Amino acid sequence: MSTTADAIRSADAHSAHTYHPLPVVVASAEGAWMTDVEGRRYLDMLAGYSALNFGHGNRRLIDAARSQLERVTLTSRAFHHDRFADFCTELAALCGKEMVLPMNTGAEAVETAVKTARKWGYEVKGVPDGHAKIVVAADNFHGRTTTVVSFSTDHDARDHFGPYTPGFEIVPYGDLTALSHAVTENTVAVLLEPIQGEAGVLVPPAGYLSGVRELTRERNVLFMADEIQSGLGRTGKTFACEHEGVVPDVYILGKALGGGVVPVSAVVADRDVLGVFRPGQHGSTFGGNPLACAVALEVVAMLRSGEFQQRATELGDHLHHELGLLVGGGAVTAVRGRGLWAGVDIAPGHGTGREVSERLMDRRVLVKDTHGSTIRLAPPLVISKEDLDWGLDQLRAVLA
Ligand SMILES: *Cc1c(COP(=O)(O)O)cnc(C)c1O
Repeated sequence: MSTTADAIRSADAHSAHTYHPLPVVVASAEGAWMTDVEGRRYLDMLAGYSALNFGHGNRRLIDAARSQLERVTLTSRAFHHDRFADFCTELAALCGKEMVLPMNTGAEAVETAVKTARKWGYEVKGVPDGHAKIVVAADNFHGRTTTVVSFSTDHDARDHFGPYTPGFEIVPYGDLTALSHAVTENTVAVLLEPIQGEAGVLVPPAGYLSGVRELTRERNVLFMADEIQSGLGRTGKTFACEHEGVVPDVYILGKALGGGVVPVSAVVADRDVLGVFRPGQHGSTFGGNPLACAVALEVVAMLRSGEFQQRATELGDHLHHELGLLVGGGAVTAVRGRGLWAGVDIAPGHGTGREVSERLMDRRVLVKDTHGSTIRLAPPLVISKEDLDWGLDQLRAVLA
């Protein structure tokens, strides 16, 4: 029995089967490369769903984490600590906003945004208590908590987890008319991914995000952009909303904010929105802890230089050019995405997304399938052009 098979058998026996991982057991990683327990090297073209935008073991982030580990790691918010103010100030500045509410995971940040919008709706907009509505898009992915799956349209994510949290209205993604009809005087927010990641890297029609911005401003509704996966450099901009020159009222951030080191998420908005909270009304034991702040502060500093956004733009143009050549060649029916992020639809007869992912794994490239026939490419932004080209060679080979 191989080390790999042993490890997988014992994981299967003792963990709940909430995932169906590829049969690779990672032991170490650096940059865009991971090494398994048997010494085989794999190119990581998933990057932890964008949690690893800066690559594995990024020097600056590991150093920031290590020096903070030696000083203080957790205080709880019962006390101040000396990394908190800098983190909030710098992240707010990166977003062009006034206030930050730090949490840990993405789903918690989405929950926090939902609570923010409802409280804002009752206390600022004047919606009658208990009547707040939030409009969301079909095929969304915003996390896994009971409230968040209440407004999912994915049966696996939602079925048998009811009773569901009320107060959400679902409209087709990319449809401004439907959105306009769904917004009423009790609507407090529109919650959207500027590019739908889990749905298969779906980029909305041009003009959609700016239309949402206009509509929400006119109707006194918060525009909350879930940039957990699309944000922080992935698409070639700090935020995917920037591609349409849009500034939402609320940014929801996670994944790459923790630099692939620790879970860090946040809701970022102006004072007229996040100012609704008073002590005791929301919180998290680990949210905004010193270790998280030290790492995220370094992430923000790295993003302030613009170099990662630039890399994502340049390598992304190259990636989309190469992928575009595959469309119509028989094996690929469509490619979508922006920057270093792509959804590739595999033609029927050329294998499911899972099968293509397994064949890529055999060629030492790791990707993740989604929705049956799509594979998703999101390599770390630090990947070299040579490695990206090598990964694309492997993709061409498995589709040949
Ligand atoms: C991953 C993700 C989440 C949930 O984040 P977790 O840290 O897994 O809870 C929410 N929204 C989007 C867009 C995501 O990609």
